Amino acid sequence: MLDALFRPRGVAVIGASAKELHIGNRVIKNLIDFGFTGGIYPINPSADEIRGIKAYKSVLDVPGPVDVAHMVIPAKFVPQAVEDCGKKGVKHIIINSGGFSETGEAGLAIEKAFLEKAKAYGIRIFGPNCQGVINTDPALKAYCNFTFTFPEPGAISIVALSGGVAEVIHQAFAAMGVGTRIYASNGNACDITIPEIIEYLGQDPGTRVIVTYVEGLRDSANFQATVTKVAAQKPILAMKAGRTQEGAKAAASHTGGLAKEDLATDLIFEKAGALSFRDEGELIIAAAAFATQPIPKGNRIGIITNTGGPAVIGTDVLVAAGCSLPPLSEKTHALLKEKLFPEATVANPVDVLATGGAAHYRACLDAMMADDSFDAILVNFVTPFFVDTDSIAKEIAAVNQQGLKPMVCNLMTDKRQWTETVRILKEGKVPCFALPGEAARALAALVRYQQIRSRDKGRVKVFEADKAAARAILDKAKAAGQSVLNAEQVYGILNAYQIPVPAWAMAADAQTAVKAADAIGYPVVVKADAASVVHKSDMGGVAVNLGDAAAVKAAVEKMQAAIKAADLRFFIQKFTPGGLEVILGAKAEPGVGHLIMFGLGGIFVEVIKDVVFNLTPVSDAEAGRMLDQIKAAALLTGVRGQKGVDRAALSALIQKLSQLVTDLPEIAEMDLNPVGAFEDGVAVLDARISL
Ligand code: ADP
Ligand code: MG
Repeated sequence: MLDALFRPRGVAVIGASAKELHIGNRVIKNLIDFGFTGGIYPINPSADEIRGIKAYKSVLDVPGPVDVAHMVIPAKFVPQAVEDCGKKGVKHIIINSGGFSETGEAGLAIEKAFLEKAKAYGIRIFGPNCQGVINTDPALKAYCNFTFTFPEPGAISIVALSGGVAEVIHQAFAAMGVGTRIYASNGNACDITIPEIIEYLGQDPGTRVIVTYVEGLRDSANFQATVTKVAAQKPILAMKAGRTQEGAKAAASHTGGLAKEDLATDLIFEKAGALSFRDEGELIIAAAAFATQPIPKGNRIGIITNTGGPAVIGTDVLVAAGCSLPPLSEKTHALLKEKLFPEATVANPVDVLATGGAAHYRACLDAMMADDSFDAILVNFVTPFFVDTDSIAKEIAAVNQQGLKPMVCNLMTDKRQWTETVRILKEGKVPCFALPGEAARALAALVRYQQIRSRDKGRVKVFEADKAAARAILDKAKAAGQSVLNAEQVYGILNAYQIPVPAWAMAADAQTAVKAADAIGYPVVVKADAASVVHKSDMGGVAVNLGDAAAVKAAVEKMQAAIKAADLRFFIQKFTPGGLEVILGAKAEPGVGHLIMFGLGGIFVEVIKDVVFNLTPVSDAEAGRMLDQIKAAALLTGVRGQKGVDRAALSALIQKLSQLVTDLPEIAEMDLNPVGAFEDGVAVLDARISL
C-alpha cells in the first residue's frame, strides 16, 4: 500500500523555491545530492529552473509519473494543491508545511478540507507538519526530507511522529557508522499512521529491525495488533517518552500527540512482543547490534579480551542484566591453554593479553563459537601499537560473518589513527561500541529480546461466573447515579465471579448486626458502609476481632456515634487473620482495556510501592509472572522457614479480576485491598469499585 511513498518513481516539490535556506529548495538539493534515481520536479509558478532542474508551473504540467508530491506552501493553499495532485494522479503527498491541527480550530478545518479532497482521489497524506521519508535502497536513493543527515545504507528502519527524535536517532547511527534503511517521520499523522508504516516495514525485505519512538498512542488497540503481527517477523525496538507528568504535558502540547498514562504503552509493547526502552541511547546501541546479529538462544555469555578492566565492567553490566558467564568447557580450556600465551588467563573472560595476536583471538573465537556453554560473545579489543590490529580485526570479522552466534565488540581505539582496523570491522558487520558497558548492554538487549520472544504467552482462561447477576448489580447502581458501589453491591459482584471472600452479611443496626454475627460465627469484623466513607479505618469504621455479641453491639454503636451518614449500614464479616496481605487492583485505560495491578498490600503499598502491572486480558502465564515480578516475590514462595502462600489461588484471583473488569468495562477502578493470602487459599478482605 505504501510502496509508492517509500519507492517513488517521481517526486514533485510544490512550493519549490530558489532561496537557498527554504525547505522547498532543500528537499530538491537532498534528492539530488543523495542521488535519487527517479524524476525530480520542482513546481513553481514563476521559476524556469531550480538547482539546475527544469521547473513546472503546475504539477499538472509534469510529463512523468509523480508518486510523491511534497507540499511546502502555506496551509491555506494546500486544499487546492491537493486537488491538482488528484488530477495528476499523485499517490502520496508529504505535507512539510505546518499550520494545521497543531495550531488550533482554524488549522484543523483546513486539515479536514484537504483530507476530504485527498480521499476523493485516493491520495494518502503523510504529515502534515512533518519531515518526510528517506529510503537508502541503492536502487532508489530517495531523500524526500528536508533534514541534513545522509545515511549509509543499512538494515535499521526508523519511524516516529517527532521529527526531532527521529533525526537524533538517525544522527546517532550515522555517527556510529551504522547504516539505516527507511526513515519516516510523519508529524501530525492525520492520515497515514505509525502502525501502517510499521506494517510496511515488516514487509520491506531490506528492513531487519524497526526502531520506533512514540509519545502516546492514538489507537492503542490497532497499534498493539500491528506490533504483535510484525514483531513475529522481525524485532521492533520501541521507546515511549512523556512518562513523567511534566513530560506528558510537553508531549501533549507538541504535534498534537496524545500522551496518555505511560504505563499502558510500555505494557502494550511488552504484550505485543516488542522490546521497550526508556532511554534513547540504550535503544540506539541495541539497534546497532540487532542490525547485523542473530538472536541468541540463551543468556550465557563468553568474553574475550586483551585488557583486564573493560572485561570486568562488561561482566558487571551483563550479570546485572540477568546474563550469566559460565566457565569454559574442559575442551575449550585445554585447547586455549595450548594456543594462548602461558601468562594468558584461560577462563571466562579469557584474557589473551595486550600482546595477543590474530591467531590468539581466532583460537578463542572459534573455541567459544563451538563451545555449547555459550550463547553469545563479547569481544573487548584495544588496539595496541605493538600488535597487528588489522589482522586481529580480520579474524573477528571473518568469524562474525559465519553468523554462528551473536557477537558484539567493544573497540577501544582512536578511530582517526586505526582507520583500517575500524574499516575491516565495519565491512565485516561487527557491531562496535566505544565503551565496554555499551557493548555489554547491546548484547544484553539481544538476550532480553530472546527472553521476550520465547516466553510462554499462556492462555486466557475463562472462569465460571454469573455475568448476568454482576451486570444487573452494576446497571442498577448506574441507574441510581452511584459513582461508588456500596459493600453489598461490591460483594455481590465478587460472589458472581466466585471470588473467595470470608462469610459476610449486611446489617442496619446493632440488633441485626449481632444476629448476623451469630450466624457467621465469632470472631467477626464490623465495618461502616456509607457513600461518604472512603477509608473506613481512618474514620473509625473498622472493628476487627470481635469475640462476642456484646463486642459487636458496642462496635456498631460507637460507629453510629462517630459517623454521621444517613445511608450508614454495617458490613459484618468473618475475622480472617494471619494471611500475607497483598493488593490487587484494576484501572480502566480507555481504548486498551484495564491495567491490572498486583503487589504487597497493607502499609507496603504506600511505602515501597512493590507493585507490578499488566493489561487485560491477563493470561495464566502472565499472572504467574506477575507473582514473580514483585520485589518481595520470595515472600510468596516462603523465606527462612516461613511457609509460602497459595500461588495458584493468587494467580486465579488475578485472572478472575481481569475477566471481571473485561466483562464490566464501566468499572473505572477496582481495589481488592487487602487480600489475605494463606498457605491454602486466598480471601478478599476489603474491596472497592468505582464507575
Ligand atoms: P479500609 O481499607 O477502608 O480502611 P479495610 O476493610 O481494608 O478498611 O480494613 C482495614 C484493615 O483491617 C485491613 O487492611 C486488614 O488488615 C484488617 N481487616 C479488615 N477485614 C478483615 C478481616 N475480615 N479479617 C482480618 N483482618 C481484616
Ligand atoms: Mg482496605
